[in-house]
Amino acid sequence: MTQTFRIAVFDGDGIGPEITKPTVGILQHLSAASPDYDLLFETLPAGAAHYAQTGESLPVKSLEAARAADAILLSAMGLPDVRYEDGTEISPQIDLRKAFDLFAGVRPVRVMPGQHTPLKLPEGREIDFVLIRESTEGLFYSQGTGEVTEDDARETLRITRATSEKLFRFAFELAHGRKTQGRGRGRVTCVDKANVFRAFAFFRGIFDEQAKDFPELIADHAYVDATALWMVQKPWDFDVLVTENMFGDILSDLGAGLMGGLGMAPSADIGLDHAVFQPCHGSAPDIAGQGMANPMAMILSAGMMLEWLGERHDVAALTHDGVRLRDAVESVMRKGESLTPDFGGAASTADAADAVCAMLDT
Ligand code: ATP
Repeated sequence: MTQTFRIAVFDGDGIGPEITKPTVGILQHLSAASPDYDLLFETLPAGAAHYAQTGESLPVKSLEAARAADAILLSAMGLPDVRYEDGTEISPQIDLRKAFDLFAGVRPVRVMPGQHTPLKLPEGREIDFVLIRESTEGLFYSQGTGEVTEDDARETLRITRATSEKLFRFAFELAHGRKTQGRGRGRVTCVDKANVFRAFAFFRGIFDEQAKDFPELIADHAYVDATALWMVQKPWDFDVLVTENMFGDILSDLGAGLMGGLGMAPSADIGLDHAVFQPCHGSAPDIAGQGMANPMAMILSAGMMLEWLGERHDVAALTHDGVRLRDAVESVMRKGESLTPDFGGAASTADAADAVCAMLDT
């Protein structure tokens, strides 16, 4: 029986539409070849360019259509020159995180042998860990409402028991799943600053409580500063890392750096009922309209979407195609013939995406 899934698509700003088009093309290609599932796409308006035209960054109609969809594929959004009156950037992706309670920002960091990385990996070493960034509170809690006077500026960091419990449970379940697949040692590291801030001691305490429900896994802790050091010195040691919003924001760019740049860094924002899949990078207005943006982060995010849908709805073909898509991207990058300029090549966005499609068919 063929199962149908509705995908809400936000094209984004800057390079957003350029990387969305070939990504949706690849998904249509996979869907057309599968007797087990059908993907239906609905493109929804939102973003900085839309705000400039209409005064709305995320129309209620778009929000509700996204809520009704089975998954949300969102491209890079925001433009430096288009801002709200208080000077902050247009970021519907953050609004979606709040509206749908997408507490777990999932950022996989993978460098398989032969893939590009600025590190010199010791023989036989590979990098394969997942950073989970809490995405609804932490130091982003007071975003847009911080108090600023002539002499004083304050933002509030907020950590709640309810969100932390969901977050840690998600992290342990992910580590459990990875261990079952033979990836990772079943280890979850809570990244915090519990030696300085009471809020992080609270965070860590909840982590330790949740860990008791997963005796088959290793639960340990690391301070965020030491984690930054180890991500460079011995990144192969990590399995699943879970951390506060701002720490995760910074460490995930370090993770993208390990993979050679933002052009290879996918992400997912996952809640209990909804999920948004989008590249880690922004809308790169400096290269927009030139057909040279790297589509791989977006394609890898689409692969994560297929895996998530497959697991959630128990459709093995979707999970399988998600993994196949990730493997195809990694093979293209290893081969090195269709690299975009950010990875030292001369391929266009379309060339790179076509190479992934061709790799899927081999
Ligand atoms: P944001 O704050 O919205 O995340 P940002 O200011 O960090 O955005 P990006 O838009 O991510 O910036 O761009 C940072 C740099 O990386 C730019 O030089 C941009 O051209 C480059 N870059 C980002 N994404 C890509 C991509 N997919 N392909 C090639 N280059 C990219």
